[in-house]
Amino acid sequence: MFAVTILGNNSAIPTLERHPTAQVVTCNEQLCLVDCGEGTQLQIAKYKIKRSRLRYIFISHLHGDHYFGLIGLLNTLNLLGRTEPLSIYGPAPLEQIIQLQLDSAETQLKYELSFVPLTPGYSGIILIDKELQVSCFPTQHRIPCFGFSFEMQKRKRKLLPDQARAYEIPAAYFSKLQDGEDYRRKDGTIVKNDWVTLPPPPAKRYVYCADTIYDTGLLRWLEGADLMYHETTYLHELHERAAERYHSTAVQAASLAAAARVKQLLIGHFSSKYTELGPFLEESRPIFERTAIAEEGVTFLV
Ligand SMILES: [Zn+2]
Repeated sequence: MFAVTILGNNSAIPTLERHPTAQVVTCNEQLCLVDCGEGTQLQIAKYKIKRSRLRYIFISHLHGDHYFGLIGLLNTLNLLGRTEPLSIYGPAPLEQIIQLQLDSAETQLKYELSFVPLTPGYSGIILIDKELQVSCFPTQHRIPCFGFSFEMQKRKRKLLPDQARAYEIPAAYFSKLQDGEDYRRKDGTIVKNDWVTLPPPPAKRYVYCADTIYDTGLLRWLEGADLMYHETTYLHELHERAAERYHSTAVQAASLAAAARVKQLLIGHFSSKYTELGPFLEESRPIFERTAIAEEGVTFLV
């Protein structure tokens, strides 16, 4: 399963109805947390996210609405007796911020916490796991900020059973064929792997654009994505304010989704001045039909 569960979709100030940014990316058994606004650990409890499966945390930037929930979560994992390692990827100063908080409380974590600093402006692959590959890319915001692209690897080739049988390959060998191996017959002749299999289906991709001004430079990361998330802090009537604060509008997010020919668009990071979210859809759907509100507690398949 490759899916995104929304835990928070508000910007800046937490409200009783909406929480600051946090999302969980599920890649089969492993979970990634993407941003960790205040209250994230309560949202994790509310939506029954399995904390023990959390393996990686990605923090886009150091505005508080994207990481003020982090130390609380790390501390709770420790109190719950976690022993599995946990890795955090984020802007370099975050490492010191966490360490200062732990040191001041004389907290010794019982699990291994590793930190991977992201250099401002860097783009490229930051994580390769057995099923998951994650890249980061810079977004244009008031302070250094990163988007993340999650790709779920499908490494197994597609077996053509009739062809394999025609070459008299025993069924017990089929899983090796899916891994890309050739087959040597008893008479020594080789059955080439691509005679009996097809390449694996293309990897599915979720692209999280974090906080950003409207920027067509993001298109190279978004092109053909299965699911993209883009912030829409404001409706388009406030596009000037959006630009001043390095944020975007629903119209702008939808235009990027259309230009990038993604399959689905998720919008979030709504200013707390909006109590109704319907107008965000009304603005974006005429430009990009397959738009959804990043509603808290809802899981979107990639
Ligand atoms: Zn921000």
